[in-house]
Amino acid sequence: MSFLFNNYSRRPIHIVSGKGTVVKDDKGKEYLDFISGIAVVSLGHAHPAIVDIIKEQSEKLWHVSNLFESPEQEKLAETLTKDTQFSHAFFCNSGAEANEAAIKLARKHTGKHVIITFEQSFHGRTFGAMAATGQEKIKQGFGPMLESFRTVPFNDPAALIAAIDDDVAAIMLEVIQGEGGVHEITSEFADTIAEICKSKGILCIVDEVQTGVGRTGTRYAYEQTSLVPDIMTLAKGLGGGFPIGAMLGTAELFDAFGPGTHGTTFGGNPLAVSVAQTVVEHIFDCTFLEEVQRKSDYVIGKLQGILPTTYEVRGKGLLIGIDCKEDVTTFIREAEEAGLLVVQAGPSVIRLLPPLTVTVGEIDQAIGLLSSALQIPSTI
Ligand SMILES: *Cc1c(COP(=O)(O)O)cnc(C)c1O
Repeated sequence: MSFLFNNYSRRPIHIVSGKGTVVKDDKGKEYLDFISGIAVVSLGHAHPAIVDIIKEQSEKLWHVSNLFESPEQEKLAETLTKDTQFSHAFFCNSGAEANEAAIKLARKHTGKHVIITFEQSFHGRTFGAMAATGQEKIKQGFGPMLESFRTVPFNDPAALIAAIDDDVAAIMLEVIQGEGGVHEITSEFADTIAEICKSKGILCIVDEVQTGVGRTGTRYAYEQTSLVPDIMTLAKGLGGGFPIGAMLGTAELFDAFGPGTHGTTFGGNPLAVSVAQTVVEHIFDCTFLEEVQRKSDYVIGKLQGILPTTYEVRGKGLLIGIDCKEDVTTFIREAEEAGLLVVQAGPSVIRLLPPLTVTVGEIDQAIGLLSSALQIPSTI
């Protein structure tokens, strides 16, 4: 009997420690962690710079409330918005919360209520974020959804154009749908969204909770598209494992979030923000991002070299999906037994999300373990 609600299907492993890409369970067995807490532990486990900043800041101050000024939040907001169209940030504690803020800001600024979202998308589990999510299984059993989300097929310009009317406040999307199966936006579809938003004055919200902060090889994934978002949400990798979320917006939206319009008790506390500052400073270094890109090319090239042609490799940076076109539950279990942790994205896709600090040696090792789980010969 467990004292916990049964809302997760937990794997029967108790991980007790980690260093870099490697985690160890209570029996002393080691695993290569190609999940990294679902794209969270972006600098690897127990990164010395993060350990240091947690020690340092926790001895100084870890919470005071947003009743007071926060130079730490100012600095992080400045770093995150630098060289972008965004000019302001709001800090919270999770991806769903960041998306709730984005939805509220878009509705308040435009005075309109419809938000267009896409099939297979994932935006979180709270009522707004759940209604925004384009997957029926996430909504089942929870009664009437929050109205005014309009879900249309992803990468289908005609369907999107047909869904636009005068009530639309925003179009909200993931540049690469992570949970939904690692589906990338096509350049044609990005162009269509950019064009609609510009010509109709509709806001573009990118949910970069999974793709943001270096995961796809650039600071933000939208930078690799023609999209010019008005609002962006971040969480997962932002704190490198420390819980923090953020919503960034353009100057035009500033007035819609005046005092008292929105808030959260824990959001942006000095400890979380100092950790995120350290993470972001590491990742936004251009040689770090080039490395991520180089490792991405290496993994994708290797996988394409050894996988059967019926399999499809998708994704950018170190958000990679292998679509095996069949149920992958057994493969994932076998990889785990062999010492490699990977996670599913939809029934047929194995998702690889190693720490961005993963080494080429670890990549080779992981591909070796993966190919034996998939029962295909590997060249390594
Ligand atoms: C994980 C995820 C969320 C939800 O984040 P939580 O921190 O679990 O609330 C939202 N959007 C995307 C794209 C995600 O991958």
